[in-house]
Amino acid sequence: MIPFEKALRTALDSAQLLDTEPVALQDSLGRILGEDISSDIDMPPFDKSAMDGYACRRKDLETPLEVLETIAAGQKPARTLGKNQCSKIMTGAPVPQGADCVIMVEHTRLDASGRVLFTAEETNTNICYQGEDVRRDQVVLKRFLRIQPQHIAILATVGKARFLVSRRPRVGIIATGDELVEPTQTPPPFSIRNSNSYQLYGQVLAAGSLPTYYGIAKDSAEEIDGRLRRALQENDVVLLSGGVSMGDFDLTPAIMARNGIDMKFDAIAIKPGKPTHFGLAERSYCFGLPGNPVSSFLQFEILVKPFLYKLMGHDLRALRSQAVMAEDLAIKPCDRETWIPVRMTPGHGTAPLNYHGSAHIHALDHAEGFIVVPVGSPGFARGTPVDVRCL
Ligand code: AMP
Ligand code: MG
Repeated sequence: MIPFEKALRTALDSAQLLDTEPVALQDSLGRILGEDISSDIDMPPFDKSAMDGYACRRKDLETPLEVLETIAAGQKPARTLGKNQCSKIMTGAPVPQGADCVIMVEHTRLDASGRVLFTAEETNTNICYQGEDVRRDQVVLKRFLRIQPQHIAILATVGKARFLVSRRPRVGIIATGDELVEPTQTPPPFSIRNSNSYQLYGQVLAAGSLPTYYGIAKDSAEEIDGRLRRALQENDVVLLSGGVSMGDFDLTPAIMARNGIDMKFDAIAIKPGKPTHFGLAERSYCFGLPGNPVSSFLQFEILVKPFLYKLMGHDLRALRSQAVMAEDLAIKPCDRETWIPVRMTPGHGTAPLNYHGSAHIHALDHAEGFIVVPVGSPGFARGTPVDVRCL
């Protein structure tokens, strides 16, 4: 049994970077950037007005200003400004020669002869200068960034309609268990529906990866072995769920070994999720996840997800929030760190959910994060500051 941090480090250190592939701008959300991106232009590309108003000389603001022309966005100014002159200008339009500021239309009125009077005490310059945001050839986005909508705006601005991203990991999912039936079926006596595979399928998609489902393997060596062999051939990563503990029919670890998987760990000092396995196959990776859906959920979130991103070159950072226990949390001290699902409460508080253990998937319904009770600790008293690992 190894500490969780060590398990995570072991998995991340064994992840080999996947190739890159081209992607179109509009399809790039959530992908991992596969190249540094530099700008082909200055931004802004010219001195432009930040306001609708009048371009003029600051030293003339005390006097009525004669209006030379109206400059629309996208239009070249025709006139150079002189003393006591201004040009009406729209947001985004180029600032004319001679002007050193733009006064907002809200800070002006017209006199009887149509000249502009400045009515405020003072004004900002209201000019965005050429190159003040970005210089031509400057790197604007670095490789391995996870592309969010605001990055797509930057890519569009610098003319990147197509660029390289990391290939998405292909992830095979195999459920094991004689007791499992698919969600379309009404479970016969002593059976339950397979929820893990579909939960994992969603988690894989949400992690920007490509899931393939290989069905339910009965707890028989042949059934698990056949599916595992195929999945290892066809994927970068295989996720087995169930059959990893100490039961008489927990065959998964032996079959992983039989398939030549070099096991890196087979137990983590964490609750839930102790019997989580990880190993390297010839050209893919394999996780054996516990069958209980809360364990499987958590081990995917905190171990498999960062691993998938690492394959794409991205260091996933967990979102954390400082909070104060809004209620007492008392647990039986454990030789493993214990992760407890929590919800956030008003005033930076957090409270444990009604949670009966790793099979209690309904406890996650309102979970907003997890808190970690250290090894040997009986929990936290109300008012204790805690770190919430957000979902
Ligand atoms: P196992 O890891 O195979 O010992 O399974 C532990 C518990 O998780 C058992 O109660 C199983 O019935 C349950 N379980 C295993 N696989 C799944 C699955 N795919 N979906 C829902 N529950 C499962
Ligand atoms: Mg089982």
